[in-house]
Amino acid sequence: MIINSEKAISQMKALGIPEADIRDLFRFRYNIDYDQTKTGRLFMMPERCSNDIEVLASGYPPAYLIGFVDFFHLKINVTPKVLIPRPETEELMGIIQNRQGRTLINSALDLCCGSGCIGLALKKMFPQATVYASDISPYAMQMTQKNADENKLEVYIALSDYLDYFVYKGLKFDLIVSNPPYIKNGEILDSSLGFEPQEALFAGDDGLDSYRKIFASLTQVLNEHGVCYLEIEAANADMTIDLAHQTLAGYNVELIKDLSNKDRFLRLTKKYL
Ligand code: GLN
Repeated sequence: MIINSEKAISQMKALGIPEADIRDLFRFRYNIDYDQTKTGRLFMMPERCSNDIEVLASGYPPAYLIGFVDFFHLKINVTPKVLIPRPETEELMGIIQNRQGRTLINSALDLCCGSGCIGLALKKMFPQATVYASDISPYAMQMTQKNADENKLEVYIALSDYLDYFVYKGLKFDLIVSNPPYIKNGEILDSSLGFEPQEALFAGDDGLDSYRKIFASLTQVLNEHGVCYLEIEAANADMTIDLAHQTLAGYNVELIKDLSNKDRFLRLTKKYL
């Protein structure tokens, strides 16, 4: 069915789609300047628009229809096989820039890279560093490569089950950053999360499986003066911190809150630092 722009906009707004997303859908998916619709101009929408509205009504994330998100001023392409970068993760990039901006980072790793957004932001922040991005999903590796190429940033991309590849290769890093899966199996999710790759979200019955894996080998891949930042599930922060204390003797575990005051990130360093 062909509908006009006025109808499309009112239907999208009724679904609660943020205006910035509607603007991007118009511009990048329908080739229509959204701002012109505000002057009272009417456009006929392309045919796929009414189908898109149905899809959006089921909770499908607009970012997958737009095809990319802005992350740390990088254009990060996304498809339903990679997680959509979140504002909290972008916030973590700002925190790292503030906290590590004056330290010498020669090597950095984005563990569980998905779209590659973290690794590419790290390469942008620390251009002199050798940056690796790894994932267990070959598709995520392809996506990271595409995003690296389009942003003209050079990162090394590795297939790795958590830190296994790096332990095996004997590689060590000054900085390790990860937003691993951290949702408890069986947790009821917002409908939009149902469209994202489930293996990027779920981490066992207590949501801690990914941290168990990371903590088990972290000391082998983090340089003496290295620092590791992890995104965590706010509701599970105490358990994640306990696990870090139990398995990483000799490490400081600092909890950092996000802008909504949620317990969102851990910063791990050797104690004497
Ligand atoms: N932050 C994601 C959410 O919206 C979860 C991502 C993850 O599991 N790392 O819940």
